[in-house]
Amino acid sequence: MNKEKEVVETGFHLENTYAKLPEKLFSRQDPSSVRSPKLVVLNLPLIESLGLNPEELKGEIGVGIFSGNKIPKGSTPIAQAYAGHQFGYFTMLGDGRAVLLGEYVTPQGERLDIQLKGSGRTPYSRGGDGKATIGPMLREYIISEAMYALGIPTTRSLAVVTTGENIARETYLPGAVLTRVAKSHIRVGTFQYTANWGTIEDLKALADYTLERHFKGEEIKGNPYLYLLRGVIRRQAELVAKWQLVGFIHGVMNTDNVTISGETIDYGPCAFMDTYDPKTVFSSIDTGGRYAYGNQPQITAWNLARFAETLLPLLSTDQEEAVAIAQEEIAKFSDIYHEKWMSGMRGKLGLFTEEAEDEVLVERLLELMEKEQADYTNMFLDLTFNHLQDTKFYEIKEFKEWYKLWNERRNRQDQSEEESKELMKRNNPAVIPRNHRVEEALEAAVQYYDYSVMEKLLLVLSDPYAHSKEQEAYKDVSKALSCGYKTYCGT
Ligand code: AMP
Ligand code: MG
Repeated sequence: MNKEKEVVETGFHLENTYAKLPEKLFSRQDPSSVRSPKLVVLNLPLIESLGLNPEELKGEIGVGIFSGNKIPKGSTPIAQAYAGHQFGYFTMLGDGRAVLLGEYVTPQGERLDIQLKGSGRTPYSRGGDGKATIGPMLREYIISEAMYALGIPTTRSLAVVTTGENIARETYLPGAVLTRVAKSHIRVGTFQYTANWGTIEDLKALADYTLERHFKGEEIKGNPYLYLLRGVIRRQAELVAKWQLVGFIHGVMNTDNVTISGETIDYGPCAFMDTYDPKTVFSSIDTGGRYAYGNQPQITAWNLARFAETLLPLLSTDQEEAVAIAQEEIAKFSDIYHEKWMSGMRGKLGLFTEEAEDEVLVERLLELMEKEQADYTNMFLDLTFNHLQDTKFYEIKEFKEWYKLWNERRNRQDQSEEESKELMKRNNPAVIPRNHRVEEALEAAVQYYDYSVMEKLLLVLSDPYAHSKEQEAYKDVSKALSCGYKTYCGT
């Protein structure tokens, strides 16, 4: 461990209740100190919403904390232990390049984890250097903030600093540290680790802590661990439905990247789909397409089954009965997911009411989009703003038929066409972080130290349902990198 860190007095006061859990669950670990930290992006709207002082965090105190050179008062930095199924294979992992500085309690009483990512080696680093480079940290910043603005539960990014160090990758790249804000970093993998290597008391302590942290104030009747299982299934079903509705592909849905809070975490190889195709994969290591767009719901169910397994000893003392209880809950996933997804699709098509044939209407549209290689986001925008009549798409006979059915369907509801359009505007984003736009912003920032492209992108992404003039240019897909675009994790 490093020598004692300088502790700073700040309004950014932290606690660490996680560090009171059984010792097996974490290791005390200070972040590494870095040579010459420099703040490159600070999330002012987030700082404000957390009731923190922007002036203090813009200055020396902020740079000190966000780089790991200084520790805010009250912080007990730790690295968390966890395991995970990576592409189906079970492995011991843990925070290999992150430290949890502690928890910040907002003025509204919400407890949030403050974690540094890229802050040096930990007992769980295995062969890794514990470091991160500027490109992937800015990428996480951009995409997590875009997800937040799209209304999708996600960890957020408070700041990125460069460290002044060169990190060895394929070439030497500038080092960086990202400060991540999360409801917690408890993962399915945290439960897997505890169930495998801990005692039943350890598992119970983790489950009780999780219930207290994420289900506080909810009325729990019956077995609390069954309640936990149900709650996590529901949150994950809602989350993956939201991903599908905007065309988000996580890319590395290993169980260590599945949160118990229901937030999206770990923006390594993720990307948004341009052309609609359920088989879309961007991650360079996902050669088998395990985590393709169309597989995400069933992979979530698989991950939740791994979660349920960890809870078996808490669900019943009779193992057979415990398995039966868990299976019954997992079996409900697909209905919960489907209900959420259909309700989102109705919104995307301007439908207020429910009819039995709505699903056929949606499926037929998606089939057509796949066949005609339509851009997923822009197709729904064209429907919203009634632009399709001027496009080639409208010449397609099957589409014309579909369009007629859709309009008839809309006319069967009491709401006006204008109301239907407004509903569609709230459900169909004008902008998503398109791959070519993200790459363009990263190139300017990383190669030319020009952060203006990224700032402009962040601004248009911050209100995706605004449908403003500034967003028009970001709909252009003529330069889209969809075909052959590759993403990488852990760099
Ligand atoms: P990820 O693919 O980002 O979910 O990471 C998988 C595991 O690899 C986690 O345990 C990370 O902490 C670890 N890891 C990723 N990059 C590094 C690195 N540069 N040094 C040490 N551990 C790392
Ligand atoms: Mg991870």
